[in-house]
Amino acid sequence: MPALFDLSYILIFPALILSFWAQYRVKSTFQYYSRQNIRSGKTAAQIAQEILHSYGIGYVKIAKTPGSLTDHYDPRDKTLRLSESVYDSSSVSAVGVAAHEAGHAVQHAKGYIPLIFRNTIVPGINISSWAAIPLFLIGLVLRSKILITIGIFFYAGVVIFHFFTLPVEFDASRRALAILKKNYFSEQEYSGAKKVLQAAALTYIASALMAVLELVRLIFLSRNTGDHK
Ligand SMILES: [Zn+2]
Repeated sequence: MPALFDLSYILIFPALILSFWAQYRVKSTFQYYSRQNIRSGKTAAQIAQEILHSYGIGYVKIAKTPGSLTDHYDPRDKTLRLSESVYDSSSVSAVGVAAHEAGHAVQHAKGYIPLIFRNTIVPGINISSWAAIPLFLIGLVLRSKILITIGIFFYAGVVIFHFFTLPVEFDASRRALAILKKNYFSEQEYSGAKKVLQAAALTYIASALMAVLELVRLIFLSRNTGDHK
């Protein structure tokens, strides 16, 4: 069983390579367009605020958060958190990222179904992603078909979560790019922001692929454990 367990990792290898490449792409693209400032000179935080106001969203706070590429919209306290390198920056990258996060706030305000569904399942997914692999492994050791199956079902929940993340992310970027093109960006600035957001989208695709292949790996392992009870 141990040798088989190791070999099964070959299954997730393509996703692992895509994931590393996507991480590299998002960092290098972000850095490249961080050096290009937009002509209007407005900061990412200012533009995010203006986008929110243009949708009549006055209740969302915009705050600074530590770290790099840690930008996110938190629907629980209705706060758009922009990382330190984004908040005060007027670069194409920073404004692109801030507009994307504003896109999530707009989705939330408009009740965009995939976002609502994703937010609803997050607590359950946190538990199942934490418990899936331990349950599966204990099931393998004890040769318990029930534990193995529960582990697989929990992991399937994680896969579903990744698949609901994709439309949410793509839609936030689509909203961001449309408004940036219409009100803020030149053609060149727009094409830079598009590249940054496409690179970010690739990291979500890589994560989803990784989750699917991991699920396939678990199913493969479960079928090769022999005496099930
Ligand atoms: Zn996003």
